[in-house]
Amino acid sequence: MKLPDTARFSTVCLHAGQEPDPSTGAIITPIYQTSTYVQEELGRHKGYEYARTQNPTRAALEGNLAAIEGGRAGFAFASGMAAISAIASLLKSGDHVVVSDNVYGGTFRLFDKVLRRYQLSFTYVDTGDLEATERAFTPATRLLFVETPSNPVMRLTDLRAAAQLAHRCGVRMVVDNTFASPVIQRPIEAGADLVVHSTTKYLNGHSDSVGGAVIAVSDEDIEWLRFVQNAAGAILSPFDSWLVLRGTKTLPLRMKQHCETGLALAQFLEGHSKVRKVYYPGLSSHPQHALAARQMNGFGGMLSFDLGSREAAATLLKSVRLLALAESLGGVESLISHPATMTHASVPVDHRQALGITDGLVRISAGLEDLEDLKDDLAHALDRVQNV
Ligand SMILES: *Cc1c(COP(=O)(O)O)cnc(C)c1O
Repeated sequence: MKLPDTARFSTVCLHAGQEPDPSTGAIITPIYQTSTYVQEELGRHKGYEYARTQNPTRAALEGNLAAIEGGRAGFAFASGMAAISAIASLLKSGDHVVVSDNVYGGTFRLFDKVLRRYQLSFTYVDTGDLEATERAFTPATRLLFVETPSNPVMRLTDLRAAAQLAHRCGVRMVVDNTFASPVIQRPIEAGADLVVHSTTKYLNGHSDSVGGAVIAVSDEDIEWLRFVQNAAGAILSPFDSWLVLRGTKTLPLRMKQHCETGLALAQFLEGHSKVRKVYYPGLSSHPQHALAARQMNGFGGMLSFDLGSREAAATLLKSVRLLALAESLGGVESLISHPATMTHASVPVDHRQALGITDGLVRISAGLEDLEDLKDDLAHALDRVQNV
C-alpha cells in the first residue's frame, strides 16, 4: 500500500512500512521466522540472503518507525540498550559526550562502566540549562545525548534550543524519546540527528516484548547504523518485530488515554493532603510547564510524587491493589514503583538527593484502566499512610 504524502499521523502509524504479503495477500505482515533464504541460482536472490542482515518482518517495523518519527531510516535492536550501544559505535576513542544528568540508569551504566574503558569520556549536566550545557562542550565533544522528560522527576530540555546549540558547536544531538513517545514529542522536527527508543515501553505498549530502535536522518549515520546492526548483530527477532508493529497501530489512541489518565492522577494527587509534591509536566505548578505546553503534544503517562519518607512510600506500595509494583513503564496496565530502591538504586545517594529522588518518591506509569478505579486504589492506599 503506497501511503499518500498527505497521510496524517494515525494513518502513518497504522500503515507505514507495511504491504499486504506478496505471496498470499495477508493484510498483516507475517512473522518471517527463518534464518536463511533459498537463492534461485548463483548470485540471484530476492534481496534476502541471511536473517541477521535482512528480515521482512523487521524491515516492515523499521520502515514504520522511521515514518512515525519523521526520520529517513529506522533500525530495530534486541533492546533499548542495544540501540544505544549502536549509537555509541559512531564514536571513536578520544571522543567526548555531553549527557543529560538524570539519564536512564542503564544508559549511565553503559557509558560509565563499559564505554569509559575505551577512551571515551562523558560529562553529565542538566541539559535544561543551556549555558551549563554549552560550558560542558570541549573541542573533543561529538554527541549531545538528551533525555526529556527525565525520569523520575520530569525535568525537561528545550529540544529546539539544544539542537541549535549542538549544531552551532558542530555536535550531533541524540534524543532518547522513550518516555514521551513520538505522539507527544517530535525530536527530529526540533533538529535532533538521531532518535533512540526502548520499544519495550510505549511503542510496543503491552509489556510483552523487549526491544529498541534508532531512527536516523543523515546518509552517513544511516550507512554506519546499517553496517553496525549487521556487524554487531544485536537485531530484534521477527516475533518481537511483529509485536511492536502491532503496538504502533494503536499508539496514538493509547497515548491519548495515557495522557488523560496521567493528568487526572497528577491533579488528584496534588490535591491530596498526604502528598508533598507531584512531578508532572502538565501541572501548572511544574517549573517548566510553559516549555512542556510548547514542546509536547500532551504531557504523557508518567508521574512521580513525594510522600515525605520511605515508610510512607512503603505503606502506599504495600496497600495498592490495582496498581502493580514493578519496574518498567508504558504498558496498558498501570505500574507503581520506588525509584530510590528500584530503577535508581545504582545512582550514588548524594547524586540521587540532588536530583530530588528522595526515599519518599513514588513513580506511576498510568495505564488504561478506568480512571475512577485507579483513583479509588490510590485513595484507599493513601488512607493507610501515616505521619506525613
Ligand atoms: C527502558 C529504557 C531504556 C532501556 O531500554 P531496554 O529496552 O530496557 O534495554 C532506555 N531509555 C529509557 C528512557 C528507558 O525507559
